[in-house]
Amino acid sequence: MNLQTLLEMPGPIIADGGMGTLLMSMGLAHGEPPELWNVNYPDRIRSVHRGYIEAGAQIILTNSFGGSRGRLERGGLGERCAKLNAAAARLARQEADAASHGVVVAGSIGPIGEFFAPMGMLTFDDAVDMFRVQAEALVEGGVDVLWIETMSDLEEVRAAAAACRQAAPGIPLVVTMTFDTHGRTMMGVTPEQAAAAISELGAAALGANCGNGPQEIEQVIRKLHAALPGAILVAKSNAGLPRMEGGRAVYDATPEVMADYARRVHADGARIVGACCGSTPAHIAAIAGALKEVA
Ligand SMILES: [Zn+2]
Repeated sequence: MNLQTLLEMPGPIIADGGMGTLLMSMGLAHGEPPELWNVNYPDRIRSVHRGYIEAGAQIILTNSFGGSRGRLERGGLGERCAKLNAAAARLARQEADAASHGVVVAGSIGPIGEFFAPMGMLTFDDAVDMFRVQAEALVEGGVDVLWIETMSDLEEVRAAAAACRQAAPGIPLVVTMTFDTHGRTMMGVTPEQAAAAISELGAAALGANCGNGPQEIEQVIRKLHAALPGAILVAKSNAGLPRMEGGRAVYDATPEVMADYARRVHADGARIVGACCGSTPAHIAAIAGALKEVA
């Protein structure tokens, strides 16, 4: 199913939940690039997608969050960028095509993880090049939409969007940022600034993901909705406020807590509702159940 067809259907749309934290629970080592599992353990990645689809997800994100060439280079995997992303897309595509309901495959593109000049070394043009390799491979692997997520810096959003446009001019874009620093992103971007900048990029939908749990995202969605009342908004909250335990982030929002979040954030204006770090298919099933009642 393509994104436009999904958006034309009435009612809320269910997105999937977190990938990285789920892979860690399946044995991904600390510091091991999750994208490697697209070729080393493809069955595990497919089982994650299948779990979210069976829970009711209508949009699934590929296991390519850290798959920009820049980020992979730091793990010594820069040369394998195209291969790892194409594999990520194909695995999600296979599960979406086998689903009993329509599922959109979104190619996840996360931050490179470096600061832009003048704070850091990264230039806009270098970032575009790094994202373009990833975007081309995701499109080649069969994604329906390119999904730029967990962004903090509008310059990086613009670079990723430019790369996506170069890779596939006609493909829809979705952009979500993480507003985890007193209502702003780590780089100081407010929801209102994000709304203005992202709508200029012609994104099909925009919103917020990750961060410090449902309450934070609910506030952001209210602000995005006030700034852009007609926009299609995405909310993908972490499963609660993370706390550190033995050097690892632990998320303990129950499926019931996430069901309540889904009802509230939908009422606040989010049309596409899913979850992020710490969530599992059980959380997505609870979200889907809650939103079925309001539809
Ligand atoms: Zn997250």
